[in-house]
Amino acid sequence: MKRRKFIQQAGSLPIAAALATAPQVGNAALIPEFRWTMVTTWPKNFPGFGMGANFLANLINEMSGGRIQISVYGAHEKVAPSEVFDTVSQGKAEMGHGAAFYWQDKVRAAQFFAAVPFGMTAQEMNAWLYQGRGLELWQELYAEYDLIPAACGNTGVQMGGWFNREINSIEDFKGLKMRIPGLGGEVVKRLGAEPVLLSGDEIFRALEQGEIEAAEWAAPYNDVALGLYKVAKYYYYPGWHEPGTTIECIVNKQAMNQLPKDLQLIVTNAMKVANQEMLAELTAKNHRALEVLLKVHKVELRPFPDEVLEQLRVASHEVIQQELEKDPRAVKIYESFENFRQQAMAWHDVSERAYMLARE
Ligand code: CA
Repeated sequence: MKRRKFIQQAGSLPIAAALATAPQVGNAALIPEFRWTMVTTWPKNFPGFGMGANFLANLINEMSGGRIQISVYGAHEKVAPSEVFDTVSQGKAEMGHGAAFYWQDKVRAAQFFAAVPFGMTAQEMNAWLYQGRGLELWQELYAEYDLIPAACGNTGVQMGGWFNREINSIEDFKGLKMRIPGLGGEVVKRLGAEPVLLSGDEIFRALEQGEIEAAEWAAPYNDVALGLYKVAKYYYYPGWHEPGTTIECIVNKQAMNQLPKDLQLIVTNAMKVANQEMLAELTAKNHRALEVLLKVHKVELRPFPDEVLEQLRVASHEVIQQELEKDPRAVKIYESFENFRQQAMAWHDVSERAYMLARE
């Protein structure tokens, strides 16, 4: 009788009050105050990037004591990678996880917040975003789309790519069919190559069947995952086209504004932690994967000749100038980016670079 009475009483109470006396796990509130959806451009749980999205969602959940709960969706689970930007912009999802060059057809200027050939390294990029005007300019660019952008990962310097043709001079780019997206693709096109757009899972087959002769994907850890060493002879470096690719998180502005101040700070700072965490993870895993590629798979590692890098640098500058004409909003962004890059280079010449040469 007592038990029935209790159940009747509990049934008449609001759920939250009824649950208030129930045991809790850690600090986690049983009923989240905010349930968010995060759409991503990555295959579900993809090493590095997809896992980085999961890490961020979990971190926000834990830091908020369970008040924010985020469900993460892989590419095509809810929307296609190319639709992530619009989905979050329209408030159909509260968060998105990808990279700014995925929206290059919509917002060309966004590419400067992802990867710029001969641009900044991860360390320099983060310094520009947080301590230069970078983040402010990025927020300004996305404001009209009701989006708040943030860096939430970085690859560090990528590799130059996998080649089945030796690159001894710039002439060797002529007629080269290569998987290379974004501004890097525009650069090799200018030098007579034929850039091909393929998603990660299509690269192996295309190289194997000779549809392409070269492909860049990322760096050892992610490249080993695709098995590219089995279908290409030479592994060239450095990744002049992606010297520190920033992974992007976008938050719908209304969704962010609905959060109380403390939760806003948690979301913003969790993204900063995720940014650092991914770079650390990829750096550590690239170390190990490079060793495996060289010692176990006997991959032939090749540097691009200096003269080739010089020509790529000239062509990159020309491509960037063209980009500025395509999207006038990019002019102010690039000016800030380039000023910061020049300063960073002058400082890093006598610090990072000098030290790296000295320690050999
Ligand atoms: Ca890449």
